[in-house]
Amino acid sequence: MKQIHDADNSGLSMVEVVLLGNAQDGGRPQPGCNKPCCIGLSPNDYRYPTSLGIIDQEQLHIIDASRHLGSQLQLLENRIPDEIWITHAHFGHIDGLGLFGRETINAKGIILHVSKRMEGIIRETPHWRLMLEQGVFSISEISDKATISNAGFTITPILVPHRGELSDMHAFVIRGQHKSLLYLPDHDTWKETLKLHETTSIRQWLKELEVDIALLDGTFWSHNELQSRSQNVVPHPPIKETINLLGYKQQGDPDILFFHLNHTNPVFDEWSEEHTTVVEMGWKIAKQGQRFIL
Ligand SMILES: [Zn+2]
Ligand SMILES: [Zn+2]
Ligand SMILES: [Zn+2]
Repeated sequence: MKQIHDADNSGLSMVEVVLLGNAQDGGRPQPGCNKPCCIGLSPNDYRYPTSLGIIDQEQLHIIDASRHLGSQLQLLENRIPDEIWITHAHFGHIDGLGLFGRETINAKGIILHVSKRMEGIIRETPHWRLMLEQGVFSISEISDKATISNAGFTITPILVPHRGELSDMHAFVIRGQHKSLLYLPDHDTWKETLKLHETTSIRQWLKELEVDIALLDGTFWSHNELQSRSQNVVPHPPIKETINLLGYKQQGDPDILFFHLNHTNPVFDEWSEEHTTVVEMGWKIAKQGQRFIL
């Protein structure tokens, strides 16, 4: 793996982050969807569930492990991660863990960073419990705002409200020597998230987190998007609402990129009116394979 060095030749390496997928848990196309959003897509238009690779000198960390990991790791020269961080228990974020077992990678001693509730689910699920017994994973517990230091970067879990029927949900802030990035694929509402963190606006919260780049939950464009399901069942703040709350990008604002896009989301199409609106306001739609230097 190539190392990236500072221009001043100080010998300090920078951390590279790679977005391994920008789709919601179901991916694109979504299994079983026979609507225009998924019918007839060419393989170039396929997108994987959200996941992030963090390359730090000799170490590779990934956040979230989807069932498409085999294809996603191609963006990282198909290396086996040394450490894995899990946001929450919804499929799309954890259903790739089984790939590390004997049937596939046959990994040993991968550090798995999970919350206490998430650890409980892993220990109660026969397939995953067996992998712990076989030494595939060793668990390291994460908790809200408890920063963990690595060779060239730190990771801080941030608790956010998100349908807690299985586990709690942690976003992550990755801080390198020069920049920091927020990874927030899922949360229920801005009202609840901002309330939990005792702040009043998205702008203020991101300022308090001191992030330069924010990957934000962009699951849906608007509340009208899901015709067959109630928003009570699938709550996420729609992009339209988030950009209304934010207004136009201002000097000193972080770069905000929306990801975790549902297959129905019109912003997948770069030429759509919705995508244009996001860009005109100074924000972005994250691309699969996009790289950031921290
Ligand atoms: Zn998700
Ligand atoms: Zn679809
Ligand atoms: Zn979720």
